Amino acid sequence: MIRPVVAITGGAGFLGSHLCERFLAEGYQVICIDNFLTGAVANVEHLMTDGHFRLVRADVSEHLAVVGRVDAVLHFASPASPIDYLRLPIDTLRVGSNGTYNALELAREKGARFVLASTSEAYGDPQVHPQPETYWGNVNPVGPRGVYDEAKRFAEAMTMAFHRAHGVDTAILRIFNTFGPRMRPFDGRAIPTFVRQALLGEPITVAGDGSQTRSICYVDDLVEGVFRVLNSDMPGPVNIGNPHEISMLDLAEWIRELTGTASQVTFVPRPQDDPEIRRPDITLATTRLGWAPRTPVEQGLRQTIAWFQEHPRLWSVENLAGAVS
Ligand code: NAD
Repeated sequence: MIRPVVAITGGAGFLGSHLCERFLAEGYQVICIDNFLTGAVANVEHLMTDGHFRLVRADVSEHLAVVGRVDAVLHFASPASPIDYLRLPIDTLRVGSNGTYNALELAREKGARFVLASTSEAYGDPQVHPQPETYWGNVNPVGPRGVYDEAKRFAEAMTMAFHRAHGVDTAILRIFNTFGPRMRPFDGRAIPTFVRQALLGEPITVAGDGSQTRSICYVDDLVEGVFRVLNSDMPGPVNIGNPHEISMLDLAEWIRELTGTASQVTFVPRPQDDPEIRRPDITLATTRLGWAPRTPVEQGLRQTIAWFQEHPRLWSVENLAGAVS
């Protein structure tokens, strides 16, 4: 059997590693390309013995070359958590611009389908709720978060330019907050932060008064969405996310309850330009791809908490230093 070949940039990250697993399971040959800026070999170590998996260390902002056939390029390389992109602003802009250009050139050279991992952050602090793909967004280009939001908006524009100018078969995914095993406990995103604090018995730090909302999707559902988009002819943009919307205070209380912790909630200042509300309109994904999230949020939270409990080495001081330096 001839296996289709998929190149996954950022394949050693949180989402990328789950994609590597899924595509191997679907009979693909997987080329995982990563420079370990925010990912780790540990995320894909268990795949190394699979003869259909290849790990390539490369900075896709510099150069991206693959020998042989490639049928699909999934461009997931990019710092993704606020802590990461605020400490790596130039890398973030470069991977969204140069990295996307290089990944699109690879797809053009190989005649491969290209899928961009864009983000709900492209909608900024939205004035339309829930957010349909037709909404153009409300982004502050010169605020600190602009490095991520605008990098992704530029990446979307570059993707459409390759599609229009070169006829590359492209798709754009706007991914809403996704959570699950292999999130880094110190990456600053709400779920790993709350789970870590709860498991350590530390105060759970909620930003502002906690009334701001997010819509949270379990990683397996996101992976299913990526798989369906790749195997469709949809150009996107298409929202992939779970419309289950929850305030940050309610999320903190839920994690307190599920972990059985004695930790109390405390309030810390809101970061600048932190969006007030966020919920995907998934009509397009549902009607065109037959996709909808299947994992109840509570089940996803339980699985995530269990994974954190099973990986106590993540709590070491050494790991903390590595993650935030
Ligand atoms: P992550 O930080 O765990 O993974 C990103 C991966 O990209 C890491 O392995 C990192 O080392 C790699 N990378 C970064 N710059 C690179 C470069 N120049 N060359 C090669 N590799 C590079 O983050 P994640 O949560 O898995 O996010 C993956 C993608 O999905 C990102 O593009 C992100 O913007 C997008 N996304 C994620 C979410 C989410 O909720 N997790 C939401 C919206 C969009």
